[in-house]
Amino acid sequence: MFSSRASSGCQMLRRSLISTRARSYGSSSGGASTKLHPNQMAVGVTTAAIAAGYAYYKQIELPTMDVVSCSAKDEIKSGSREFFGEYWPRNIIILFGPPGSGKGTHGPNMEEMLGIPQLSTGDMLRAAVTAKSPVGMKAKAVMAAGGLVSDEIVVGIIKERIAQPDCKLGFILDGFPRTLAQADALNKMLAEDGGCVSKVLELNVPDEVLEERICGRWIHKKSGRSYHVKFAPPKTMEKASDGNPIASSMKDDLTGEPLMQRPDDTAAALIKRLNGYHSETVPILGHYAPNGIVKKINANQGMKEVWSQILDSLGKN
Ligand code: AMP
Repeated sequence: MFSSRASSGCQMLRRSLISTRARSYGSSSGGASTKLHPNQMAVGVTTAAIAAGYAYYKQIELPTMDVVSCSAKDEIKSGSREFFGEYWPRNIIILFGPPGSGKGTHGPNMEEMLGIPQLSTGDMLRAAVTAKSPVGMKAKAVMAAGGLVSDEIVVGIIKERIAQPDCKLGFILDGFPRTLAQADALNKMLAEDGGCVSKVLELNVPDEVLEERICGRWIHKKSGRSYHVKFAPPKTMEKASDGNPIASSMKDDLTGEPLMQRPDDTAAALIKRLNGYHSETVPILGHYAPNGIVKKINANQGMKEVWSQILDSLGKN
């Protein structure tokens, strides 16, 4: 007689196999369908079966994950008594999109849902600037002007961060990679552990919409909570006679602490940031597209609608 957890393990095994197969045959809800080679399908099904079987055997909950597109066969050691996360390919998601497209808004929700951390190179660099560390001193002026910090610096930061234990089952990259050189460096880092990027969520918003989003943005530095004078004002916001918000009234809803505007959230810096995005960052999509892992999201709509498309592309709806 199975215990209820054991029988739920059985159901998980079935669900996992069924959904894995459905996805392997190219049912992708968020955009172009993903056609996998029969070998990849076999690996996906085998991977799910082994992991689900092991979860059933150990009576542990499976983390909800979509199938990764790289071969993870060598990483899977069936029958191992080690925690199966060691052998399940990491869920590595890139949140891709121009500044103001909603990466910082939806990233934390994904983080909570998937149980893997969101890694924002922008946040890490801002923390370095605040701490006046050598990296921060080098990055400060470039960032304020809306330019790109050197590949060497950001690759170094990411390499160190993804080696932390909380990244063991995967992570969500926000703002990285931003150049082809960074994408190559990421591939190499992941390949060292037999991994690869599992999904790229491409948030699309027309450039003309971004200026209003960026220039009205206020941030609670400590938590990263984001507000907007028009779309999501803090409760305390007061306006001067010219219609602009009074800076001293801009406070975080939860802590009452002052909000700030990023030095690079200006119309002038945005022009440079968008130029960099189109010329250096967008070409990265061509790097991942052949694997069928790029999912297009229309991020120029309400937050609920965008979130629903994100869920679709992660196979959660
Ligand atoms: P973000 O918060 O992602 O908009 O990043 C803020 C700024 O940090 C960018 O405008 C760049 O100056 C710098 N930055 C963040 N991530 C990267 C990266 N991957 N490569 C180069 N510069 C970066």
